[in-house]
Amino acid sequence: MIYFDKVSKHYNNRNSIAIEDVTFQVAPREFVSIVGHSGAGKTTLLKMLIAEDRPTAGQVFFESLDVHQIPRTKLPKYRRKIGTVFQDFKLLSHKTAFENIAFAMEANGRSDEEIEENVPQALALVDLEPKAWNFPWELSGGEKQRVAIARAIVNQPDIIIADEPTGNLDPIATYEVVQILKKINDLGTTVIMTTHNKGVIDELGRRVITMDEGRIVRDDVEGTYSL
Ligand code: ADP
Repeated sequence: MIYFDKVSKHYNNRNSIAIEDVTFQVAPREFVSIVGHSGAGKTTLLKMLIAEDRPTAGQVFFESLDVHQIPRTKLPKYRRKIGTVFQDFKLLSHKTAFENIAFAMEANGRSDEEIEENVPQALALVDLEPKAWNFPWELSGGEKQRVAIARAIVNQPDIIIADEPTGNLDPIATYEVVQILKKINDLGTTVIMTTHNKGVIDELGRRVITMDEGRIVRDDVEGTYSL
């Protein structure tokens, strides 16, 4: 369970309100989309969850953990519970698809045996086994994002956070990426995704939180995009 309790984040001594008095919960295994205009506070909200930045007020809980009370030395362990996917993929250009995914496992202290076993499974989940030894420049945008998703799930996190994962993709690649995120969610991982894409929201038919000027203005169980 994720719980935001009256969370606000102000930048520049309160001149800039990124999020304001945000309260919501996400249950395990939910798929939640967060929508809103540019500047509405979506990315800031995700940053509060991964403890990349501290709230100005309020608390963020992950299960019983008060995320912003976690000592700095324990943050890497907390962040391993969360896989992240970004609009611009953030793949290492000098590593192949396999090596990009393996690198996330190495950073997590996993053994060579585990890497040999789990990386092919992650590649299979995103339907990319034939491209295991391709470098990022040899992959389409959709394929790159699927490698990034494989990297995000390979350490079996509890949550996937995807910040505009289809923002750079054409409609077919967008559809494929959404299907893969759905499959990962069906397998038991909570997914929190920000998006601008109305088609994605309609295709998902899952919960939608709408933000505007830092506040949650709608929270629909089977949402539609209404901005
Ligand atoms: P979104 O992801 O919905 O586009 P953001 O969370 O990135 O919105 O930004 C929300 C607001 O907070 C914007 O007005 C933005 O300019 C401001 N903001 C975000 N990060 C910073 C920062 N590091 N310093 C100052 N203002 C920021």
